[in-house]
Amino acid sequence: MKARFNGICVECGEKIKVGREILKNSKGKWVHKACSDIEEELP
Ligand SMILES: [Zn+2]
Repeated sequence: MKARFNGICVECGEKIKVGREILKNSKGKWVHKACSDIEEELP
């Protein structure tokens, strides 16, 4: 899903800006889509 507010990615430590694609990781934290350790969308 797209970020609805600014935050910090716990995986890479960089900012998550509104509108960026984000996912929850296995710990339930929001991270960049590329940083998540779980896949939400199947091909
Ligand atoms: Zn990240």
